[in-house]
Amino acid sequence: MRVLVVEDEPTLAGQLQASLMQAGYAVDVSGNGREALFLGETESYDAVILDLGLPQMDGLSVLRRWRAMGRTQPVLILTARDNWSEKVAGIDAGADDYLTKPFHPEELLARVRALIRRAGGQASTRLACGPVELDTRSSRVTVDGQAVTLTSHEYRVLAYLMHHPDRLISRTELTEHIYAQDFDRDSNTIEVFIGRLRKKLPQDLIETVRGLGYRLRVPS
Ligand code: CA
Repeated sequence: MRVLVVEDEPTLAGQLQASLMQAGYAVDVSGNGREALFLGETESYDAVILDLGLPQMDGLSVLRRWRAMGRTQPVLILTARDNWSEKVAGIDAGADDYLTKPFHPEELLARVRALIRRAGGQASTRLACGPVELDTRSSRVTVDGQAVTLTSHEYRVLAYLMHHPDRLISRTELTEHIYAQDFDRDSNTIEVFIGRLRKKLPQDLIETVRGLGYRLRVPS
């Protein structure tokens, strides 16, 4: 899962990036509205955290432009305390949720999980597929209750597949959702991650659809 953080206050942006990465997300950070607009238009994010007061273009304008273009990524806006009209304007502009500054990082993480869950139609923070369980709160994976150790990239690949069960996912789509923008991407490495996941998880969990991509097999 990949998240965009739009925040012009460098300390806060750095903290958000660190706690999101710790939680297993690929994270892009932008400190100005114009760049954020472009990123949200051209990149694929599973959630966006958008501060409203930004240089070059304010957050509300960025959000309105995304929605006018038909971009549907879940957006959580960061608002100033006691500014109820900003929250109303944000939600009317297409925000899915808001958080008032200052906030605890754990609350932000919980809200991001909820946004991603809702976007995928999941009700629970624990995703299950046969004997495999992925707990999005602890970023832990188990098979038949036994913990499995995954690298951060293996975890991201599995998390993306488990958020989209029984759906054909192309290598390009996976690549877009597991790497941050500045990462040297190579879609061939996806195959390597899938190979490693197959060694650590039930072998038939991830199906290769030749030339098209992968599908997480849901046992009937
Ligand atoms: Ca700001």
